[in-house]
Amino acid sequence: MTTTQSRSAHNDVMKAATVTDFGAALDIQETSLPEPGRHQALVKLIASGVCHTDVHAADGDWPVKPQPPFVPGHEGVGTVVKLGPGEHDVKLGDMVGNAWLWSACGTCEYCRTGRETMCESAEYGGYTVNGSFGEYMLVDTRYAPKIPAGAQPVEVAPILCAGVTVYKGLKNTEVKPGQWVVISGIGGLGHVAVQYAVAMGMRVIALDIRQEALQLAKSLGAEAVVDASEEGLNVGEAVAQITGGGAHGVLVTAVHNAAFGQAIDMARRGAVIVFNGLPPGDFPAPIFDIVFKQLTIRGSLVGTRQDMDEALDFYARGLVKPIVSECQLEDINDVFRHLVDGKVDGRIAIKY
Ligand code: NAD
Ligand code: ZN
Ligand code: ZN
Repeated sequence: MTTTQSRSAHNDVMKAATVTDFGAALDIQETSLPEPGRHQALVKLIASGVCHTDVHAADGDWPVKPQPPFVPGHEGVGTVVKLGPGEHDVKLGDMVGNAWLWSACGTCEYCRTGRETMCESAEYGGYTVNGSFGEYMLVDTRYAPKIPAGAQPVEVAPILCAGVTVYKGLKNTEVKPGQWVVISGIGGLGHVAVQYAVAMGMRVIALDIRQEALQLAKSLGAEAVVDASEEGLNVGEAVAQITGGGAHGVLVTAVHNAAFGQAIDMARRGAVIVFNGLPPGDFPAPIFDIVFKQLTIRGSLVGTRQDMDEALDFYARGLVKPIVSECQLEDINDVFRHLVDGKVDGRIAIKY
């Protein structure tokens, strides 16, 4: 028997894609299975979506950085195989997920007022704690999303970040049924945002710089599309023409700074602009337009456990269906490259 065989026979090691240095290729390493602590469960992964945030994490793009070595991934779906000490409302064999909001303190001002995504002591899946790019992961059973019965693991995985994030982001636009929303960036987040917006009764304009993304958006219910890469196109005027004066809300999921300033051009007076996308850096904001149009510009980070349950329920009722292509854990560096190059339609998920 080789070492690897005897080791895996003991079932105490696993493979995980690990960030060892910012900007370097992820390393598929063998590590020991983590031991679930208090309120924690060990979960055997079935699938994990790959979010553009995982690329930002591995590149150390943001001012608040994770600490290598770490395992990214926060759209993991799997079954509970071991429970740590403490009480749990999940049992062995249940299907659960991990999420960006891996846990929160439960007692601070934000947690007590239903705003747990603002908790300053929150842990983030695949960022401050190891995530779902491995064969096993830990979850906090008080915060881990419960996967609805009948869900397809690969298909439901993107709901755990992309889905909940845009669902909450769309709620934050305060766009009413029958009003216009622009979804800027039709990637992993944007392609589910189109579906949530349609299900929420909004009229959707999809904006991207890729024709394939815009075609996908149309097939998912966008009434109009804007190709921001078109030479000489004024996106503000294009949207004003479609909507008769500008969009009531704009949701920006794009991974490019230019899209953030454009949101202001596309907004109607009194509109709410919600930022989900997180490219590093900043953008110039015209003070006059913001004041004169009386705009609200709002950041929105994932969603609470309640938002998550609601977002999953849209999926369970067949109102939202992520478009997912499967890959293997070993493909992770290629998938990252495709995300950076803007070559991914919908979402890619690792199948274990
Ligand atoms: P993705 O790579 O799948 O999609 C990004 C899309 O943006 C692509 O379709 C790309 O063509 C498009 N794009 C690029 N430049 C553009 C431009 N100038 N105008 C319009 N569209 C443009 O990425 P994703 O997984 O959907 O993530 C999107 C962003 O959202 C990332 O920055 C990610 O970190 C962030 N994110 C934030 C939250 C949150 O809670 N706020 C949650 C998840 C992801
Ligand atoms: Zn994410
Ligand atoms: Zn808190």
